[in-house]
Amino acid sequence: MTRCLNCGSERDADICEACGLNSTAAELSLRQKLLNRTAILLVGGLALVAASERYPALELDGILIFTGILFFLTLGLGILVERRALRHQEVEALKRIYYGLIPLPWLLSVLLLGNGALDRYPVCVEPARVISKFSMSGPVPNRRLIVTSWRGGRRLERIPVDRGDFDRVSRGDMVDVQVREGLVGIPWVAGVSLQ
Ligand SMILES: [Zn+2]
Repeated sequence: MTRCLNCGSERDADICEACGLNSTAAELSLRQKLLNRTAILLVGGLALVAASERYPALELDGILIFTGILFFLTLGLGILVERRALRHQEVEALKRIYYGLIPLPWLLSVLLLGNGALDRYPVCVEPARVISKFSMSGPVPNRRLIVTSWRGGRRLERIPVDRGDFDRVSRGDMVDVQVREGLVGIPWVAGVSLQ
C-alpha cells in the first residue's frame, strides 16, 4: 500500500481514486508544491532579515544563529521529501512537518516587527564603552559595536547599529545605548549616541 504523492490518500492502483492523478502526475504535482512552498520559505527568510534590521534585537546574533540553523534544517527537510518522492518512498509525514515549518520565518518577522513597532515602554539609556567594532559587508551588511555590558553576569554586548552610528563611533568612546524593552519582551536597540 502506498500513498498518493498529490493528495496523500492510500491507493493500490496507479491512478489515485481520490484525486484521479496517476503516479507520474502526482509526483509532478508534489514537486510543484514543494517548489512553491520553498519559495515562500526563502522569501520569509529575507523578510526576517529585513525585520531584524528594522528593530535590531539586543540578542540579534543569537536569534540569527538559531533561526539560521532552523532555516537550513527546514530546507534540508524539503530536499529530503523530494528525494524520497523520486524514489517513491513514503513522504506524507515528512511533508506535513515541512509544510508546518514554512511559515516560521514569517511568524518570527511579524513578532520582531510588532515587538519594535508597538513598543510603548520608555527608552532606557545605558552607558557603555566601545571595546571594538565589527562590520561585514555583503548583501546583508552586519555592523556591531562590541561594548562593555550593563547587565549583570555579562562582560560584553554586541550592539547591532546602522551605518551612521557605526561610522560616528570609535574604539574607546563612551556611548549611550538606547535600549527598549520590546512589546513581547525582546529588548532591542533604538540607537547609539556619543556621550
Ligand atoms: Zn491522490
